[in-house]
Amino acid sequence: MFKNQALTDFTIEKNRAAMRRALDDLERSLRTAPLKAFPIVEGQELTTAVSFRREDPSTESRAVALTSFAGVAEVERALVGLSRGAAAWRSTAFSRRAEIVRRAAALMRERHFELCAVINMEAGKPWREADADVAEAIDFCEFYADEMLRLGPPFKTMEIAGEENHYFYQPRGICAVISPWNFPLAIACGMAAAALVTGNCVVLKPAEQTSLTAYYLAKIFLDAGIPSNAFAFLPGWGEEVGQALVESPLVDMICFTGSKAVGLQIIRSAAQVRADQQSVKKVVAELGGKNAIIVDDDADLDEAIKGVLYSAFGFAGQKCSACSRLIVVGSAYEPFLARLKEAAADIISGPASDPATLLGPVIDRESRDRILQTIARAQARHTALFVGTPHGGGYFVPAAIFRDVAPDAEIWREEIFGPVLAACQAENFEQALKLANDSQYALTGAVFSRSPAHIEAARNGFRVGNLYINRGCTGALVGRQPFGGFKMSGVGSKAGGVDYLVQFMEPRTVTENTMRRGFAPE
Ligand code: NAD
Repeated sequence: MFKNQALTDFTIEKNRAAMRRALDDLERSLRTAPLKAFPIVEGQELTTAVSFRREDPSTESRAVALTSFAGVAEVERALVGLSRGAAAWRSTAFSRRAEIVRRAAALMRERHFELCAVINMEAGKPWREADADVAEAIDFCEFYADEMLRLGPPFKTMEIAGEENHYFYQPRGICAVISPWNFPLAIACGMAAAALVTGNCVVLKPAEQTSLTAYYLAKIFLDAGIPSNAFAFLPGWGEEVGQALVESPLVDMICFTGSKAVGLQIIRSAAQVRADQQSVKKVVAELGGKNAIIVDDDADLDEAIKGVLYSAFGFAGQKCSACSRLIVVGSAYEPFLARLKEAAADIISGPASDPATLLGPVIDRESRDRILQTIARAQARHTALFVGTPHGGGYFVPAAIFRDVAPDAEIWREEIFGPVLAACQAENFEQALKLANDSQYALTGAVFSRSPAHIEAARNGFRVGNLYINRGCTGALVGRQPFGGFKMSGVGSKAGGVDYLVQFMEPRTVTENTMRRGFAPE
């Protein structure tokens, strides 16, 4: 029976010491040189002519990783290798595949703090967030292993005299997994584990910024027993390696999580049929969000402040589930904003390695500059409720809250992927729901209310993939809150849910006429 991996309680000294030790070990080895990562094709680590230097976003100056980037030649080589291995992996018993994926979870559990430290330093994820990333990766492996045992055995469709109908699944073939940097372990692991456990061969192309974390994952999969001709790891540029994978006739399925712009481009490109292509490419694409929290006029404001602050500013707002729109009903608007402003002033901004940090750095220089420009434009157009002072040194931006923002404003409509919150007042709950739904995205949302009628109205009428009532809108757990949205937030079933694995397989039926058994025509 699946159980979520418990999150680490860092108020316990032993746990703090373990995390500190892992960070110290990593820091010590970085004093000599950045860690190296390589593409892995047919079990071999390849050194290429292009290397990518990744700096610690908390300090900017320190190099964390030096990754050999794959190019188009490695894509071709990897896909040919996987084509050779596909039949053997497809025919491996599903129970064996589940066992191997479960073993990958066990290896991650053994190396929990080491993985947390790498994520902390490479992605700039504060302690609590890095810990949740590792826990989620473990959960994905164990949940999907269980799911495969449920879906693996063929089953009979209906009992009809004289006829036997069997329904069963086969893998799609080769799956290109293209992952983002914001959950550098969990999302890459979840997509790849789902594809592998269902019997597909996988090429993992991680986000450039978090190639090192993904390299750890790739080695864990291979150590766990995924055959070297069923899995390849290709760090590289999205426009080069990602695109070459999407376009290759050897790829049957693309499982992507990332921005709307890239996702839509992948869907377009995958729809074009190339010479020698054997199957229609299936695309699963989890995209962005512009998530709203509604604070009702009778809400418990203490709870709502906590929920909004953490949802908007945890990991510097760089979660697809993060809250970036705040809608406060009627008379609660002014008191809530006054308290939000006070609470925002207490947000601790600092390096990700400091356990007290809530607002760490953003992912890279480009992101920092883009968010700072967005804040500057918003300051010229809207009333700032609060703009903090960014921590110095790395890729830091301030937490920013704007009030009385109109629904046609850029910061109300566009995903910023940073710690920027746009707030407005609604006349009543009905209008609040309308404002919340007025977005091209439909990923997460939350409502703080004490009114049973309003809670019921939200259940039905707040149309998002993951709705939370009287809690924040981030932190979905595998199995408990299967995660994913609709509209422009993506196509595909929810990650960590009971429909997820089916997307990676094709169902087949076999019908036998059993009446004729023993009948010999003259
Ligand atoms: P991104 O779209 O820039 O990159 C995602 C991946 O696509 C990377 O590996 C990148 O190298 C690759 N890529 C880039 N161009 C490509 C191309 N032309 N062809 C193929 N691959 C290409 O996204 P990001 O900045 O890494 O992540 C942030 C985005 O991800 C946000 O929009 C966020 O909302 C979204 N996200 C969504 C979910 C979800 O579950 N819905 C979860 C996490 C992140």
